Amino acid sequence: MSQDNKVAMVGTPCQIIAAEKMNHFQDVLGESPVDLKVGLFCMENFSYHYLNQLLEEHHIQLKDVSECRVEKGHMWFYLTDGQVLKIPLKEAKTCMRKNCEVCMDYTSELSDLSVGSVGSPAGWSTVIARTVKGLELLKNAEESNYIETRPMTDSGIALIKKLSNQKKEENQKEINKRERVARPVIYRRFITDKQFQEEVAQCQFEDLKADVIDVGTCVLCGSCEYICPENIVKIEDRKPRIRGQCPPDCNLCYVACPRTYLPVEVASPDLDQKPLGDYMKIVSAKASLVKGQDGGVATALLNYALSGGLVNEVLVVDKSSAEPWKPEVKLTSSTDDVLKASGTKYAACPVFKGLKNMKEEL
Ligand SMILES: Cc1cc2nc3c(=O)[nH]c(=O)nc-3n(C[C@H](O)[C@H](O)[C@H](O)COP(=O)(O)OP(=O)(O)OC[C@H]3O[C@@H](n4cnc5c(N)ncnc54)[C@H](O)[C@@H]3O)c2cc1C
Ligand code: SF4
Ligand code: SF4
Ligand code: SF4
Repeated sequence: MSQDNKVAMVGTPCQIIAAEKMNHFQDVLGESPVDLKVGLFCMENFSYHYLNQLLEEHHIQLKDVSECRVEKGHMWFYLTDGQVLKIPLKEAKTCMRKNCEVCMDYTSELSDLSVGSVGSPAGWSTVIARTVKGLELLKNAEESNYIETRPMTDSGIALIKKLSNQKKEENQKEINKRERVARPVIYRRFITDKQFQEEVAQCQFEDLKADVIDVGTCVLCGSCEYICPENIVKIEDRKPRIRGQCPPDCNLCYVACPRTYLPVEVASPDLDQKPLGDYMKIVSAKASLVKGQDGGVATALLNYALSGGLVNEVLVVDKSSAEPWKPEVKLTSSTDDVLKASGTKYAACPVFKGLKNMKEEL
């Protein structure tokens, strides 16, 4: 991968873990183009297919929805004709992806910058800068008037901590339950880099299927499809599937997957005791020129990085033009495309597929 290909990505915590793992294992996987990681907060995600069905039961079609939000114990659908449908989260959670039940990261702990809605007033986003690169970007974007910031309130910070701890506690119970009755949740095994090399040496797609896909921990990130040198992995019918034979010495999909072993050198087990993760600064922020999900800050930060030449492409999640509200990944160097992709789509999206074309062009 050429030095010129620098990509900023935005994604859920599990996708950010995948990006960090690919950065960590560049010796094996090849150079990673992802140079800046803007992570989102995420309590859960939904199956597009089941969400569609749920709305149909409420006599609503996704094509008539103009905005969707999860807050105050409900999933809210704002319709183009002005009506509002609210579905209790308990009911909406029947459409939740099973992999989200064993997820321990609420605030994208491995990102450069994390952005969420919780903890800040309506129309503002909460931003956590975790790395020097993230902190610089936040500072420079504010100085260049892409965003404005203000201090968080103590109650805002306390709320994020409470929700993060809640997610970690509830999902740890689910992990314990699954491990008692089924297979281990291996991404929670916390082994060292050295042990990792030994564990994964012989593992191929069949092992990925047995250890991740068949046990309901696949986050549908698309890393396996992106990384496969034989191009035989495809996400079809909501699952990664293989169409061909793996050469005997390949284990790349197993290495890259965020739900196989996660070495302590990538994610420390101490993070379980840190509801906000490790961080340098936390603020509320908004971008007055962007109509985003909250403060439009994720979009503004990505566009600042693009316009300032810090990266030359951005990986965003837009809506499909063929199926309403279906998330669709886009790799772009256009700030208009990034603006168009603002707003949350509450369904899983195999974001790393978006890097595939870039790899194929080289
Ligand atoms: C599945 C999901 C669950 C979330 N849950 C929470 C939560 O529990 N608590 C909380 O505080 N915040 C949550 N968020 C984050 C929140 O909805 C906003 O995305 C965040 O506050 C940023 O707002 P913004 O206005 O700054 O972003 P915007 O400027 O509107 O930009 C949003 C960015 O999100 C990207 N995006 C949209 N959908 C997806 C997707 N499915 N996968 C990956 N990237 C996507 C777009 O590419 C866009 O660049 C969640 C987001 C997602 C995608
Ligand atoms: S596994 Fe689910 S809850 Fe966890 S970050 Fe990914 S989408 Fe969000
Ligand atoms: S060829 Fe390699 S990366 Fe592709 S599916 Fe087989 S083991 Fe995985
Ligand atoms: S199996 Fe593939 S799509 Fe699923 S989490 Fe692993 S790398 Fe991502």
